[in-house]
Amino acid sequence: MTRTGRAGPAAGRVNTPGTTDVLVVGAGLAGLHTATLLARLGHDVLLVERRATLTAPIRTTGIFVRRTLDDFPLPAECLGPPIRRVVLYPPGLRRPVSLVSTRDEYRVADMGPLYVAAAHAAVDAGVRLALGTRYVGRRDGCFILAGPDGPAGVRARYVVGADGARSRVARDLGLDRNHHLLVGAEEVFEIPAGDEPPTFHCVLDPSLAPGYLAWVVNDGRHAHVGVAGYPDRYRDGLRRALHRFAASAPGLPVTGRPGEVERRGGPIPVGGVLRRIGCPDGLLVGDAAGAVSPLTAGGLDPCLRLSGIAATVLDEALRSGRPDPLAHYEGAALRARFRGRLTLRRALAQVRTPAAAAAAFTLLRTPPGRAAARRILFGDGSFPAP
Ligand SMILES: Cc1cc2nc3c(=O)[nH]c(=O)nc-3n(C[C@H](O)[C@H](O)[C@H](O)COP(=O)(O)OP(=O)(O)OC[C@H]3O[C@@H](n4cnc5c(N)ncnc54)[C@H](O)[C@@H]3O)c2cc1C
Repeated sequence: MTRTGRAGPAAGRVNTPGTTDVLVVGAGLAGLHTATLLARLGHDVLLVERRATLTAPIRTTGIFVRRTLDDFPLPAECLGPPIRRVVLYPPGLRRPVSLVSTRDEYRVADMGPLYVAAAHAAVDAGVRLALGTRYVGRRDGCFILAGPDGPAGVRARYVVGADGARSRVARDLGLDRNHHLLVGAEEVFEIPAGDEPPTFHCVLDPSLAPGYLAWVVNDGRHAHVGVAGYPDRYRDGLRRALHRFAASAPGLPVTGRPGEVERRGGPIPVGGVLRRIGCPDGLLVGDAAGAVSPLTAGGLDPCLRLSGIAATVLDEALRSGRPDPLAHYEGAALRARFRGRLTLRRALAQVRTPAAAAAAFTLLRTPPGRAAARRILFGDGSFPAP
């Protein structure tokens, strides 16, 4: 096992290559989890992240579903109160459909502290974490990084692309890339405790969220007010749509929105897990692999689960000294298990007018419609096991 110093000691030229077993690019949840698992298995891991801090900017609401909360030990102090109630609204917000689960279904994480806790766990496991360090490409068998001290080359047995929806690693490895993307934006602010139970409000209105939903998550501590949809269908832009929604969004306290809000946003791949996500030189995890539910656009559970599979495959490859196990790391089989959700995504994408959304609510108000919504929102579906 190799142990080397920091990547990128001097400016102006590409420095003498360092070496590592695995270079992980991107310290979102997928990269942090993959790196930690590999380091715990005894491998030398260099994790590089272009942001100088893990607490900003944040690109997720941070809603964790019950299956994730059951299966992964997330730090309790980073999790908001449990949410059991979902209210679905048509355009105009009249006659919403309210669904209440008998179980705790969701918790919204305080993502800044959660990323920091995950980074501490990674470093404790032995991961070398380099913040403010961007992966810029691959040259002569070396991975080139641009860090605070200038460019540096790193030789790695394997590279992991955990670099998000528009993965540069995927491009350099010649793997599949995400083309089917939503974009989302939200505002987050603290709110005073109110009388309403913690609630997830979802508005199906294609003028605000073309092909997806506008949302308010109010867990009694924070409010997240957001919209997401297909970028080419926003007539006056995503930010304006968010502004319009925030002006009349349901489920917010009468005190309204404070002057200071945190802004979040980013692309969301919804085309399903990509087919080619591994090759003899490395693999993709998280959004880079398209591991996001095409219907709900939830990617936190899939990224944790796929990272576990990736770490197992890389461990086998490193122990055997051969890349053969990476041949079995492919998305086609996982993708097939998403067929139902991909069909529902196509159906949601077809809701192009407020009239179509209102018609969908006619179905939703029937007993079978409510039962279907409960299955999607409160079901046990998760990222498929391989
Ligand atoms: C607005 C919004 C709200 C969402 N809300 C939810 C939700 O509530 N629940 C849910 O389950 N899912 C949600 N999702 C989806 C979910 O957040 C993602 O699927 C998940 O965070 C993906 O994690 P990741 O680690 O794969 O990617 P990311 O979190 O995007 O991490 C990728 C990292 O790679 C870094 N990086 C990129 N390129 C380079 C480079 N060249 N060199 C070095 N570093 C690089 C980036 O800076 C970033 O830190 C949401 C997405 C959006 C956009």
